[in-house]
Formats: sequence, C-alpha cells, structure tokens
Amino acid sequence: MADPSIARFARLGIRREQDLALHLPLRYEDETKLMPVAAARPGTTVQVEGTVERSEVARRPRRGLVVTLRDDGAALILRFLHYYASQLRQFTSGARIRAIGEVRGGLFGLEMVHPRYRVVHEDTPLPETLTPVYPTVAGVGQASLRAAVRKALGQTDLSETVPGDGVVPQGLPPLAEAIALLHAPPPGVDHSSLAERSHPAWQRVIFDELLAQQLSLRRSRSARAQQDAPGLTGGAMVDALLAVLPFELTGAQQRVWSEIGADLARTQPMNRLLQGDVGSGKTVIAALAAARAIGSGFQVALMAPTEILAEQHWRKLEPWMAQAGVRIAWLTGSLKDSEKKAVRAQVAAGEADLLVGTHALIEQSVEFSRLGLTIVDEQHRFGVAQRLKLRAKTGAGALPHQLMMSATPIPRTLAMSYYADLDVSLIDELPPGRRPVVTKLISAARRDEVLERVRAVAAQGCQVYWVCPLVAESEALDLQTAIDTHARLVDALAPLTVGLVHGRLSGAEKQEVMERFVRGAVRVLVATTVIEVGVDVPNASLMVIEDAERFGLSQLHQLRGRIGRGALDSVCVLLYGTALAPLARERLRVIYETSDGFEIARRDLILRGPGEFLGARQSGVPMLRFADLERDARLVEAARDAAATMLRKHPQLVERHLARWLGGREEYLGA
Ligand code: ADP
Ligand code: MG
Repeated sequence: MADPSIARFARLGIRREQDLALHLPLRYEDETKLMPVAAARPGTTVQVEGTVERSEVARRPRRGLVVTLRDDGAALILRFLHYYASQLRQFTSGARIRAIGEVRGGLFGLEMVHPRYRVVHEDTPLPETLTPVYPTVAGVGQASLRAAVRKALGQTDLSETVPGDGVVPQGLPPLAEAIALLHAPPPGVDHSSLAERSHPAWQRVIFDELLAQQLSLRRSRSARAQQDAPGLTGGAMVDALLAVLPFELTGAQQRVWSEIGADLARTQPMNRLLQGDVGSGKTVIAALAAARAIGSGFQVALMAPTEILAEQHWRKLEPWMAQAGVRIAWLTGSLKDSEKKAVRAQVAAGEADLLVGTHALIEQSVEFSRLGLTIVDEQHRFGVAQRLKLRAKTGAGALPHQLMMSATPIPRTLAMSYYADLDVSLIDELPPGRRPVVTKLISAARRDEVLERVRAVAAQGCQVYWVCPLVAESEALDLQTAIDTHARLVDALAPLTVGLVHGRLSGAEKQEVMERFVRGAVRVLVATTVIEVGVDVPNASLMVIEDAERFGLSQLHQLRGRIGRGALDSVCVLLYGTALAPLARERLRVIYETSDGFEIARRDLILRGPGEFLGARQSGVPMLRFADLERDARLVEAARDAAATMLRKHPQLVERHLARWLGGREEYLGA
C-alpha cells in the first residue's frame, strides 16, 4: 500500500514510493567538515560549531535576532530577521550550535544571515555523507523530503531491470548502487563530476531514463504497426507527374522517394518525417506521394501552417497535378462560407482528389470519402493534437498514411530520442545550380548603404525582401514599425514599387501582394515573418532583415532560405541595433558563420535547450528529468541499442523498466 502521506509530494510529480527514490538531488551541501571560525572567509559557505555567547533581539540597524557564536578561536554573528519564539529559547547562553551558511563581513565582524543550524552536543557526530538538496516547491521543505526519501529508499525495490549481458554501457554501476550514492555521496566523492552529472552514478541513472524513453516510443511504434492502412501501389499517375516535371530529381530526392514509396505500398500506416533544408525540394516529393495515393484511388490532404504557404503549394502543385490528371481543391479560413461549403461537398463526395489548405482542413465539418494520405508541411508548427485530428479523418475504414515535412532540422540526438517513433527521410543535397547566400552583418546606423544596394539590385532586374520582426508580445508596435518602414522605403526608393505584406491583411489582400511580387510587379516586398516558410520567388536575390537580433535562429535560417533559390548571387543583410544582448550576439554569430541547417539547429539546441523544438509534443510533460541530449549524446545511442535488445530478448524486463520510470505517464509519449 502506498503511504498516504506521499500526497504531500504530488506537486513534485511524486506519486509512489519509488518516485521518491528516483527524486534525485539538485546539488549537495558538505556538512561532513567543520571550519574554525577564525579560518572562515567572507563569500564562502562553511559549517561552523560553537557555543552561544550572547543572544538578543536587536532594534537597530534592523529588528532581528542576533546570536553571537564562539568557537575556540573567534566569534561569529548569526543573524535572523524573522524568527519564532521557540528559537529564542534554543539560543540560550552556552548552548552548542552547528550552523551552515554563507559568511559575510558585517558591521560587527563576520556574520551569517539565516544560516541552517541545529542544536548539538559535544559528541554529536558529523554526517559521513554529503547532504542532498532536492528539487522542491513552496511548502515542501528539505527536511521532510530528506526523511521521506530515506524511508522510501529502505522500502523500494531497486533491483536491475536492465539485463546483465552487456546492455548497460561499460563502467556504470548497478542502478541500486547509483541511486544510493546519489542520495548520500561519501565525502571523498568528486564534487564536480556530481555537479556536471558525469559521475558514473549519474550516467547510470541517465542511461536508464533514456532507455525508458526509447522503450516507450518503440512500443507506441509497434502498436501503430498493428493498425491497417491502404496499400498504395498505383504507379501510372506518378509516371505522369515525373513526365511533366521541368527538372530531374536529385539523387537525394530519388532516394527519399523510394523510401516513402515503399512505405506507402505497405498496409501499415506510414509515420514518416521528410527533412530537408530550405530549398532542398521537398514539395515535389509531397507531390509524388500524393500522385501515388491518388493513382491508387485515394484522396490526399495537404496541410500547411499559413495561408501564404498553403497558397504557394497550390501554385506549385496545381500546374503539375492538373497535367497529371489530379482534381485539386483549396480550403482555408478566408474563403467565403458558401465557397467552403462547396469545397467540403466536393471532398466528401470524392470529387476532389487533393485538398490543399490550412488548419481549416481539420475542422470537424471536413469529411473525406477515401482519405489515403495526409501530408503536413512544416510539421513542427502544428501541435500533436492537430496532426492527430487530420489523421483521424478517414473515409476508407483504415488509417491514412502520414507524411510530415520540416525544414527545421531536428538535431541528431533529439531525433534519436523524442522522435524515435518516427521514420526519417533526409534530403541532404540541394538541387543543382544553387549559389550560396552571402550573409552580412551591418549596423542599423549604416542603413543608407543598404538602401543603395537595394537600388543596385533592383536596377539589375532582381527583387528584394525587407523583413521586419513581429512578435506576439509587441505585436501592435511591430506592425506599426512594418507599416512605417514600408512608408519610408516607398519614399526612399521611388520610383520602385514597394509592397507590404503582414499577418493582419486579409487572405485576399495578402494573396494579391504576393501575386504581384511573384510576377515581378512589386520589386521590394516589406514583410513580417509571414514569409518565413515556403515562399519561393527565385528572382529575389537580396534580403534585408531589420532588427535581426530579435529573431530566433531557425527563423533567420528559414528567412535566409527565401533567397538563393535561383542561379543568382544572393546576399542576406542582417541589420542589428546598438545594444546587443550576449545571447542575441551569439545567435547572429551562428547565422553569420554557417548556412548548414543542421549545424544551426545543433547550436540552437545548445543556446535554448530542447523545449522549443518539441513544440506541443511534450508540452508540460518533463519526459527527461536528468538527461541532457547534448551532453549525454553517447548514452542516447547506447539506450537506443539497448532498447532493441531488450524488446527482442527480455519483454518482462521491459514492463518492469517502464513501470519504474514512467508509471502512469506513458500515455503522453506515443502522441
Ligand atoms: P523546400 O524543400 O524548401 O520546400 P521547394 O520544394 O520549395 O523546397 O523547392 C525549392 C525550389 O527548387 C523550387 O523552385 C523547386 O521547383 C526547385 N526544385 C526542386 N527539386 C529540384 C530539382 N531536382 N532540380 C531543380 N530544381 C528543383
Ligand atoms: Mg517547402
């Protein structure tokens, strides 16, 4: 029976005795040694012991309890600004006190403010191990946590759940030993290896945690493999599409298409992520997958995160697909109700083969007659729930296949851990003839030179993006800045046509501006980040990014990917303000130094931590409490291999391992 008092720790995610055992210290305090007061230096945290010489309630300089403690050599003041009456009694003259805290130089000599302390006797032993400091929340004190953990340790089964045959990486101790050490490290232990979590005991715990994650994701993957999907094998429409494409597929495109094609032919639902840096040519792969599904008698839904992007897809796909005989429909929130209704009727009746659009696709009222494939572009922009909703739309009695696309590369370790239930195809080659984009960092004070460059580029017949930041917290202000910038550029660049596009325009207005830009009628386009993803205008060869320091790394990378799409030499100018914060400076340095999306993502992970990559996927669920994907990359790999072995050879241990580490939390993982 679980101890009912464990409810006190619910806010720490602790529900079972064994959760307490796995509640590991953040850091330690060393109470194993005493420091003579005479040797204590201001600014250091030490433990001292002495007898109370005097204690009084002082009125000045501030009201408080002031205790003078003396050991053999010197005296030290303990100062309490808040205190209980009972404390007054503890500090009677002659009482022996052991206190731990930071020493400061005070008005009357050395002092400690609010030290931790206890009343001891001459023969009270010092602890033999470091004192753990646990992560906690307001209202749960260290002392009660320590006591509860100690009790739980005595009652929890920490026997091995990982088989002995070489599955645990070499040099790591048994789990029970590791846990015991971490809760009560012996005094000689290497402090820094504990703090950095490189100590073998930490590494063992981290390995087990990563292993639980791998096991759980692999299980949800095999659960999916039990489900039915239509086998899509029709080839004629794919051939028709290949015949009308104005280019040859690159080697990388051929490779990923054969991977995806093989998945689609299977009767289990595909769950595949297609990764490729901006401009690598993912759209045509989506088109081929769609053609395969449609040629096999099924419908396809293609969902993009913004209207502009959805429209770009439509523009790109429409001519190809129409020539290949596909009936394509379009659905976004900005259509008139009557238009939406007509589209929905078409789709439900099976009179449209490919439905392209935004979030509007997952509205309840959209029904397909035979949905065989869903394609989600820029998948990380959507939450899990949205993707699942799209997948749940099926008129065919089986689950549709799912293809997700992303230009934001997931760093390798992240892909191996959080995305272990996905298959990943990678386009690691750009179409031929691309020229690298030159990136320049220019102070906003030199704006005139930049305007000169804009005129020169326009004089050559090329086009320019001028991007302004727009962040939720300061949206109104940012919007105004974009509008002002547009007005200034209209003046400064006359007679060039300068357009403006931002998220507050109606769908039709945006569409009109974009269309004029695509045609070349608008030469300079002032835009907020609505153009971040997917927009494809090969004639644009210069991008100016205002206040570049306010953008995130992957945003900058995506934005920069809008140029360098034709055979032109392209330049990206990052304008920055004067007072750059260190992190902002670091981001600009990364984007300046490299154009490799994977390297950028890796450094982004270091700068930001994994949270933002995961989007809604794990929101609120701290899946990995101890592991750090960058630091523990080696263990991620080891855990992945170990998971495969365990699932094959030791199914009972898998159950026990998951029960220990995830308890009831597993449902969050498979999403
Ligand atoms: P992204 O991967 O960023 O979505 P797109 O699919 O928009 O990239 O492709 C970028 C550009 O490259 C488009 O203009 C597309 O038509 C073109 N493209 C794609 N594949 C090839 C290829 N194999 N050869 C030449 N151009 C290609
Ligand atoms: Mg794209």
